[in-house]
Amino acid sequence: ATIAELDEAIADCRRCPRLVAWREEVARKKRAAFADETYWGRPVPGIGPADASLAIVGLAPAAHGGNRTGRMFTGDRSGDVLFQALYDVGLASQPTSTHRGDGLELYGTRITAPVHCAPPANKPLPAERDACRPWLVRELELLRPRLKAVVVLGAFGWQALLPVLAQTWPVPRPAPKFGHGVEVVLGEELHLFGCYHVSQQNTFTGRLTPEMLRDVLSRAAARAGL
Ligand code: SF4
Repeated sequence: ATIAELDEAIADCRRCPRLVAWREEVARKKRAAFADETYWGRPVPGIGPADASLAIVGLAPAAHGGNRTGRMFTGDRSGDVLFQALYDVGLASQPTSTHRGDGLELYGTRITAPVHCAPPANKPLPAERDACRPWLVRELELLRPRLKAVVVLGAFGWQALLPVLAQTWPVPRPAPKFGHGVEVVLGEELHLFGCYHVSQQNTFTGRLTPEMLRDVLSRAAARAGL
């Protein structure tokens, strides 16, 4: 299978009953407010080229961001911060990401998440994270030949990703702890970076500044040869 085929398969997934109900309910209720666009209301696949050497792993799509637009981090405040930073460090073709078809290109970078459906209160259940894990395993398998660096946004993503990485790369024991700016090298080939999540709780309070985000992204890009 290719990444494009994987993305299509993910968009059709209905494995988690609670999340299927939630994503569709949000779409039904909000569709009128966004009448001039097609409200997605489905699982949101990753974005970015199949030969990416850098992966960015978040948490899950936002109810009115990715769940609405069908593209990760697109159409919400978290995405505004992330795409501006990606553009600033040369990983994106434009500083904004408003809708699918806005011409955005990512350079050598793939953005994905351990949970592909918007969860209520942005909190997936452990069972939902586990149910979604095979999609991330498959995606990283496809990226593996070129993958050199991964930036994880937030502790949830970190916890979700480590068991996935451990299937392929030597993850140290005890497991490395999440922290902003932490860099862990797995088997001398994959550089794993921790970064505070780009959520408004972090960006509005100054816990994560644009400079801090750019710093982690540019360190990871350098490791990824970008
Ligand atoms: Fe499928 Fe993942 Fe969505 Fe669950 S969260 S329905 S496993 S895509």
